Amino acid sequence: MQTIDKFSFSGQKVFVRVDFNVPLDEKFNITDDTRIRAAIPTLKKILSDGGSLIIASHLGRPDGVTEKYSLKHILGRVSDLLGVSVEFAGDCLGAEAAGKSDALKAGQALLLENLRFYAAEEGKPRGLAKDAPAEEVAAAKKAEKQKQKEMAKQLASYATVYVNDAFGTAHRAHASTAIIADYFDADHKLFGYLMQNEINAVEKVLKNTVRPFTAIMGGSKVSSKIDIIENLLTKVDNLIITGGMTYTFTKALGGKIGNSIVENDKLDLALSLIQKAKDNNVNLALAVDAKAADSFSNDAKTQFVPVGEIPDGWEGLDIGPETEKKFAAVIEASKTILWNGPTGVFEFENFAGGSKSVGMAIAKATDKGAFSLVGGGDSVACVNKFGIADRMSYVSTGGGALLEFIEGKVLPGIKAIRGY
Ligand code: AMP
Repeated sequence: MQTIDKFSFSGQKVFVRVDFNVPLDEKFNITDDTRIRAAIPTLKKILSDGGSLIIASHLGRPDGVTEKYSLKHILGRVSDLLGVSVEFAGDCLGAEAAGKSDALKAGQALLLENLRFYAAEEGKPRGLAKDAPAEEVAAAKKAEKQKQKEMAKQLASYATVYVNDAFGTAHRAHASTAIIADYFDADHKLFGYLMQNEINAVEKVLKNTVRPFTAIMGGSKVSSKIDIIENLLTKVDNLIITGGMTYTFTKALGGKIGNSIVENDKLDLALSLIQKAKDNNVNLALAVDAKAADSFSNDAKTQFVPVGEIPDGWEGLDIGPETEKKFAAVIEASKTILWNGPTGVFEFENFAGGSKSVGMAIAKATDKGAFSLVGGGDSVACVNKFGIADRMSYVSTGGGALLEFIEGKVLPGIKAIRGY
């Protein structure tokens, strides 16, 4: 397999799938350009080798051509960050995109319009009536899959090399993230730096694990994390289950949880996960105390109580001091750490303390040589909020993609390039 650090892009026309799905304000100003910055090393390497760039991305979830989701809004920022004046094609398919790609010279760059202006990018028919007959739905799906292949083929025709650097969409089998790779031979398709770094980080944690390995799973619901927890139970030494999920476990074990968030249909599941942890010799660490609030609000009255003794009318919105100590001891003794999800409602300043203490324990362990991977939405927000992102070994840019990767799924965007 080709790798980006060894590959010379000299004289090549390179189609790079990036994830420039950045947030814009109502005047179309970029409010956070992290995702653009993340792809810059790959784009710069291609230009400095003497290649030319065809940059393609999605933005938002448009239903057809929508001004709000035009990538022209981000053209200026891409040019600034890349240090070259980037051309724009007002469509990703058709004569303009083909002509402008064809005209590119070494060191030049072109940004294509939003791939998702076409339903074919995702390969899913749009606008079908909810009550459409099954045959009609099946025929529409088949037709869209065909269009998806044609779209992938056309995008591929602009370039001599395909680079995927869009980890955020690696879990989707879209025209530009996976199908397109079929039109390049093994020597002319590769991962960008970001994608390679994400893969390396996850594989370091899950495959080349230095023990003890601790996973910290937080967040609101067990139901959204079942597959990950089950996969991790076959891999970790310690599993900390925290956040809103705590109370489903506490209730299942016979505790009193007051008004805390709970999934009553997942009590049996919680018990079976506890049993599985025992069977696999995994140390399952749950909270012992909670910071309980008399309402779901930052200004609520609070008290620290044992986790299974939350009074009626109160709800657990964060872990308590005993739990902070318990979790920190496990984390600080670890050599590999994975963190997904806060310990409490960290968006409220008064309930962010537990998440901060977990973040600090990870930072300390990392300082002592542990490898720490943080990812999947809210935990990234946490490390940024607490100013400790640069003390983590790796902060993932992928939300859903990272979670599916940790579940043990083969991601289409990765498989399309390396075959597994
Ligand atoms: P998730 O998207 O599943 O990772 O969950 C993250 C969300 O869980 C955050 O918005 C937190 O505010 C929320 N959360 C964490 N702990 C609690 C809790 N004890 N009660 C209610 N929500 C919580």
